[in-house]
Amino acid sequence: MAQDRRRTSDPDAHPDYRAPADRAPGIRAAGACWTRTILHADMDAFYASVEQLDNPQLRGQPLLIGVDHPRSVVSTASYEARPFGVGSAMPMVEAKRRCPQAIIVPPRMQRYAEVSEQIMTVFADFSPRVEPLSLDEAFVDLTGSERLLGPPDVVARNVKAAVKAATGGLNVSVGVSGCKFVAKVASDFRKPDGLLVVPPDAMLAFLAPLPISRLWGVGKHGEELLRNMDLRTIGDVASADPLWLKQRLGSLGPHVYALAHADDQRPVVADREAQSISSEETLDVDVSGRAAIEPYLLRAADRVARRLRRAGLRAGGVRLKLKTHKFQNLGRQVALLPPTTSSSALYDEACKLLAHVDLTQRYRLIGLGAYDLQREGAPIQGLLFGEPERKKNDKLDRALDSLRERFGKGAVQRGSDMGARERFGLPTGKLPDD
Ligand SMILES: [Mg+2]
Repeated sequence: MAQDRRRTSDPDAHPDYRAPADRAPGIRAAGACWTRTILHADMDAFYASVEQLDNPQLRGQPLLIGVDHPRSVVSTASYEARPFGVGSAMPMVEAKRRCPQAIIVPPRMQRYAEVSEQIMTVFADFSPRVEPLSLDEAFVDLTGSERLLGPPDVVARNVKAAVKAATGGLNVSVGVSGCKFVAKVASDFRKPDGLLVVPPDAMLAFLAPLPISRLWGVGKHGEELLRNMDLRTIGDVASADPLWLKQRLGSLGPHVYALAHADDQRPVVADREAQSISSEETLDVDVSGRAAIEPYLLRAADRVARRLRRAGLRAGGVRLKLKTHKFQNLGRQVALLPPTTSSSALYDEACKLLAHVDLTQRYRLIGLGAYDLQREGAPIQGLLFGEPERKKNDKLDRALDSLRERFGKGAVQRGSDMGARERFGLPTGKLPDD
């Protein structure tokens, strides 16, 4: 009965169905109107290809990147190993059984990160809007760059050539389309060394014959549900009744229906891994006054600085965050010049910001955040003054980091933090993000 409702009704005619706001123009319009141009780039068998690049003896050989241990899994299999039915995330034991002649190579993450830096730099030459998804994969928003860079197929070829040149010979597969979902499917479509451009007016036809497993975010369970509804291809989902999908699948229904219509409005978000790094603490007992607040800021500054250094980022600004006992949020922020990873610089500036809040208030939350985050390798402005002091602080911070790494986070405190809680009668206990 329910099955009969598939493919019978016009989705937009259904009273309960509201079309996503921006869907109609990009998809219904005829002609290759590139309202958005999204490129997805994905390196081929990345770790294995890097190993083959660095060691000519491994070229043409079946490789399993991973640790040879009974409980470990394969990180990457080279293309020579894949015909034997091995691939990422397979238990190493099983992979060895299927492909006994494979050479097992332990991963060298440092080296992969280095190559990753090279390819991300290449992408950044084509657009300021690069969203890395992992070490070897990124979305690049090319919207509006056609006059500067040429049509999508030309840009795609140039990206591939530039990656090859920058890395000394590695292949990247590239897909270009009108939204993230289709661009990603397209980059995977002709791997390895793939290149596929799917213009917006061809997206539906491109998706229709593909299996539902290609739908982003569906997973094994969702796939099974869809199969039980006799939906096998993306085209099946596209022509199903959206209300029926929603009744049977809940929130997954509108999601798959939209994707099947190539309706994916997700923007390319540059550097989304870190817009800000912050640490805050909700107190057991409200506090007021500078002397009571400052020790919390010092702890927070230490934690934030540690996380910045671990992520290879510098803060271009620091933000003070307070919540009054009446749950009113207060924020004050200031730019940092030069950008810093130093906990004492973050702490000092946050303390200065205390001058701009009412310190007679009682506060129930105290936090400190770093924003305007910049990669550590980027050139620093305004470093003429205070450089020796900064270097000294950097050294101290890094020394503390390594001690904490070895002996646990509670092992080391600065003299100025030592006993601060006790001295001010502050509550002690585990901090939320420790
Ligand atoms: Mg890849």
